[in-house]
Amino acid sequence: MNRRKFIEKSTLSTAGIISAPLLARERAYSENDRTKTFAKDVVRPIVIATWDVPNATEKAWHILRSDGSSLDAVEQGVMIEEADENNQSVGKGGRPDRDGNVTLDACIMDKDSKCGSVVYLQNIVHPISVARKVMEETPHVILAGRGAEQFAYGLGFKKDKLLTEKSRQEWLQWKKTARYEPVINIENHDTIGMLAIDGNGDLAGACTTSGMAYKIAGRVGDSPIIGAGLFVDNEVGAATATGVGEEVIRTVGSFLVVELMRQGKTPHQACKEAVQRIIEKNSDQPDFQIGFIALNKNGETGGYCIHPGFSYRVYSKDGHTNNPSDSYLNK
Ligand code: ASP
Repeated sequence: MNRRKFIEKSTLSTAGIISAPLLARERAYSENDRTKTFAKDVVRPIVIATWDVPNATEKAWHILRSDGSSLDAVEQGVMIEEADENNQSVGKGGRPDRDGNVTLDACIMDKDSKCGSVVYLQNIVHPISVARKVMEETPHVILAGRGAEQFAYGLGFKKDKLLTEKSRQEWLQWKKTARYEPVINIENHDTIGMLAIDGNGDLAGACTTSGMAYKIAGRVGDSPIIGAGLFVDNEVGAATATGVGEEVIRTVGSFLVVELMRQGKTPHQACKEAVQRIIEKNSDQPDFQIGFIALNKNGETGGYCIHPGFSYRVYSKDGHTNNPSDSYLNK
C-alpha cells in the first residue's frame, strides 16, 4: 500500500488595546461582516480546547482566574487528559501503534514564540511537560524517541506503562484483520489542543496526542509540529488542530489559520478557509476528519471542521460551554 493509500485508509481518528493586525482586519471587512463577527469587548482571560474536555478547561480556567500564566494554564489543562486512562487518544491509555507500543507526540508554544516539542515518546505520561522542558531547558525545539525519553528521565520524569488493558484488548482485536478504516470522530475525543489568554493578555498553546491509532511504528503526525498542529503569535492569536495529521502538515494548518487572522479574518473565518484548503486538495467528500480551533488577541474564538461531530470547549467569564463546530459536510 503506498503512502497516500495508507493515509486514506488509516484509522482516524482570545481589555483594552486592539492590536495593529486586528485594526487592519477591521479595515478589511465589509460593514456587514464587521457587525456580524467583530467583538466589541476584549475577553480575557479565556481558554479554548478541542473536543468536549470540561475537566481540562476547568483546570486551565482555575489557573487563569488565579492570575496564573496562559503557559501554565495550557500545560496543566492538557495534563488532565494525558493522565486520564479513559481517553484513548492522549497520554496514558492511548491506542498503540500497529506493533502495540503507545508513542506520544506533544508541543507547547508561548507568548515569545518560544516552543518545545517531543515526538515518538514512550513510557512517559506527560509528554507536554517534557515538551515544556525542551523549550525552557535546551537550545532545541524538538527531541525525538529514545533521546527525548532519556532527557525526561534525567529531569526526574517517571517511567510508566502507557498501554492499558482496554487499549491492549482493542489492539489485539484490530490485529485480527489489521484493516485501516476511517473512524470519523473516534470516540469524539482525539488530540487535545488548548489555547489560552491570561490576565496580562498573553497567549500560549499546547497540543498532545497518542496519534493515529495503529499507525506504522515511527509515524509522527501534525500535533507536535509547530505550525501544523499548533501555532501561537502573541500579536495576533493562536490555532490548533485535530484530525488526520498528514493533511494538516501538508497545509501547515495552524500557521495558516493564524496568518489568515493576521490578514483580518475572524477565528471562525480563518478555520473555515484552512479546512477549505484541505478540501481543495482532496475529494469533495473526504472520508477523514479535520478540526481547527482558533483564538484571537481580543478573545474571540472559532472553529471549523469537515464532518459534523467535532466540538470545542470555551471557558471565560461568560461561562463554560461546549460548542458544536460548523462543518463543511452536513452529515
Ligand atoms: N492529529 C493527530 C495525528 O495525526 C490525530 C488526531 O487528532 O486524531 O496524530
